[in-house]
Amino acid sequence: MSLFERAELAPADPILGLTEAFSVDKRAQKVNLGVGVYLDEDGRLPLMRAVQEASERITQAARPHAYQPIDGMPAYRTAVRAMVFGESNAISDGRVVTVQSLGGTGALRVGGDLLRVLSAGPKLLVSNPSWENHRAIFSRAGFEVDTYRYYDAELKGIDFEGMIADLDAAEAGTVVVLHACCHNPTGYDLDAAQWDRVIEVLIRRSLVPFLDMAYQGFGSGVAEDGAVVERFTSSGLVFLLSTSYSKSFSLYGERVGSLSVVVEDATVAARVLSQLKTLIRTDYSNPPTEGAAIVSTVLLDEQLRSMWADELSHMRTRIQTLRTSLVAALAERGIDDMEFIAQQRGMFSYSGLPREQMVALRSEFGVYGLDSGRICVAALNDSNLGYVADAIASVRA
Ligand code: PMP
Repeated sequence: MSLFERAELAPADPILGLTEAFSVDKRAQKVNLGVGVYLDEDGRLPLMRAVQEASERITQAARPHAYQPIDGMPAYRTAVRAMVFGESNAISDGRVVTVQSLGGTGALRVGGDLLRVLSAGPKLLVSNPSWENHRAIFSRAGFEVDTYRYYDAELKGIDFEGMIADLDAAEAGTVVVLHACCHNPTGYDLDAAQWDRVIEVLIRRSLVPFLDMAYQGFGSGVAEDGAVVERFTSSGLVFLLSTSYSKSFSLYGERVGSLSVVVEDATVAARVLSQLKTLIRTDYSNPPTEGAAIVSTVLLDEQLRSMWADELSHMRTRIQTLRTSLVAALAERGIDDMEFIAQQRGMFSYSGLPREQMVALRSEFGVYGLDSGRICVAALNDSNLGYVADAIASVRA
């Protein structure tokens, strides 16, 4: 057998594979609740006005396409760092390193590689359940990935004592991936007191936190969702933080994110930055320009920033309305045990529907959600919500 003949057919990505199946589905009423994308009232991917205006300004400036610094566009790094860390002393103390990344995924991978270079792990814990790609990204980076308890199916909420017990039992040096807000896939977030307890265990057990914040602004607001980061910095913990602007700027294809590492002091920060640059240089050399230029233009311009904040806040409140509308539509169809959908946060709902019902939703109705029961509430609208409620009522009958 030749080199390439040895290649086995790898399984399709569970979420993107679903989108492929959806696109060849011929039914007119099909609904894609699989992929994590916010769609507007007309079921379309929004082009945010602030983003469009920033793009126009960038086009008009007609800059040549130079290489960017290895760690990314300076204005972008400063702007996103300020959005995430606010006025934190950690910034003025020079103990935060931030690099531009290829989306949230790229930040997780570069962060994972950095941790391995520094011989962290090899054990790494993700929540059970978590975004599917967490396990794959960190396994590929060389970690032994395991889980800590998170979702309690019976409670329809967080098994918090289970989570604490699992973190408490973890070996010192274990890396712990935590969703900063809008937990994907469950939609259940820790409250402030729970975060404090988690931080206490992380410190006491010498664990290495990796916060993943892919949905800042979709929980309670940009500053409110960012508050968890300040809890970590002010606790004295050293940690990693990935962010993504795919959803909050509707810039999915531009691959915009950041990786920050909060360390002890400025001299450590300089060494960590040098390691990050080495990783990036040998991986993709330097990041692309367009997405970072758009995000920094928006964040650094008062008028565009406030326009963007309004648009993001509209998305957040609209998803909340869709949640209550879905609960009401289900109640009208005799289903009154799914009110929890209105309590969950972010783009997703863990519907609690078992795999067979998720498969039936797909095959009988062309309603595509994940086998785990996750549906993307942000893909509902006035035209498809009733149909989805009918379909759920039918598969549950
Ligand atoms: N982390 C989580 C929890 C996510 O849900 C996602 C996106 N689905 C990412 C990271 C990756 O974001 P991006 O698409 O910007 O790579």
